[in-house]
Amino acid sequence: MQIEIVTIGDELLLGFTIDTNGAYLARELAKHGITVARRTSVGDGAEDIAHAVGESLERTGAVITTGGLGPTSDDLTKPSIAHLFGRAMYEDADVVASLHRRWKALGRTGEIPRSNLQQALIPVGAEILVNAHGTAPGIWLADERGRWVAMLPGVPREMRGLFADELLPRLRGRMDGPATVVRSSTIRTTGIAESALSDRIRALSALDLEGLGLAYLPGWEGVDLRLTARGLPPDTADARLARVAAQLQVTAGEYTYGTGDADLAAGVLAALRAAGQRIAVAESCTGGLLGARLTAVPGSSDVMLGGIIAYHNDVKMSALGVRAETLAAHGAVSEATALEMARGARRALGASVGVSITGIAGPDGGTPEKPVGTVCIACDMDGASKSFRAMMIGDRGEVRQRSAQSALSLVRRMLLGTA
Ligand code: ATP
Repeated sequence: MQIEIVTIGDELLLGFTIDTNGAYLARELAKHGITVARRTSVGDGAEDIAHAVGESLERTGAVITTGGLGPTSDDLTKPSIAHLFGRAMYEDADVVASLHRRWKALGRTGEIPRSNLQQALIPVGAEILVNAHGTAPGIWLADERGRWVAMLPGVPREMRGLFADELLPRLRGRMDGPATVVRSSTIRTTGIAESALSDRIRALSALDLEGLGLAYLPGWEGVDLRLTARGLPPDTADARLARVAAQLQVTAGEYTYGTGDADLAAGVLAALRAAGQRIAVAESCTGGLLGARLTAVPGSSDVMLGGIIAYHNDVKMSALGVRAETLAAHGAVSEATALEMARGARRALGASVGVSITGIAGPDGGTPEKPVGTVCIACDMDGASKSFRAMMIGDRGEVRQRSAQSALSLVRRMLLGTA
């Protein structure tokens, strides 16, 4: 079954509201083997709604809308889709009665406003999807060719409730043949560029994706590889995902650190624990972000001893023992300074592993030799040390996040012996 989603509301086009309804529906439908062929967002105008829904109906004959079912003048979803189907509207007595009941239950007195009763206007021949979570009922409207539109409210909580209570059971009842699913599996990588990862994977002639979709999803944590199985029975989908994911993990080699929503910090802590190591951090431009990543993992205190935020050069010298000559010769953002910071943290806190970050997160402070985004990272493990300099892309927040992730990655690679 292929479906299109049309989310309605000027606020979506203006960017004030993020279309979480569309994302939610897409995820839920996929779980049940229903393919979302397209998602469209339109404003509140009647013509825009009719146009978008009409086009979606032409393509798939199956459309879910959200929004525009309320009592206000900008809520035009029902009349515009009724018009599209050539249907008049009538006031439904049951909906009127339920609006009155809800009005009383909320302790409101006096006459229910006329605009509220607009919610009881239903296209002729439509079926009502009872809304146990709010006032505006959902609508199911089908034509003689079997094409249908399901209209859900815009308020996310109501939309989710109505989808689960009324729409999903209806859709499941319409699915013919054995149940199929859309399932995904994610392999997480870090420290390798998207293009380099793609070259590695393409070079693997033995790789058979078995018809699964493969997406590269880069972000500040690294590049995620997402495999997706569509239209397969659950067992077949799971078996194929497991087989192909295993091959991709081997291909990504030392750059992969887990699957699903694996957290690099948790992986590093587990590896340190297994190796009997304890870690201390020294941070300049990340101001504690690396420490926060490590301490966010429950149970980290047996491995994570602590950290020193050495933002000012005086603190780099007094708390970490960075030498004035090093700072003078190489600058605060240099591999030499990073190495002394890592060693200093390890010694000061009595750890076996010290890791450090020093860089220029921006937006100011860059120079031609060291532009914004220049970051130096070092790790000192039982006296053996490694350092590197990198250019982190993005704004200040992203440079800091990428730096913390790269520092964790360096510790991981040193533990693996691949740094
Ligand atoms: P109401 O009965 O409250 O008028 P409605 O069905 O008419 O509900 P809208 O008025 O379009 O829905 O939207 C109600 C609220 O729901 C909006 O203020 C917005 O915050 C939220 N909303 C609407 N559409 C979406 C969407 N696609 N994703 C996330 N939130 C949404």
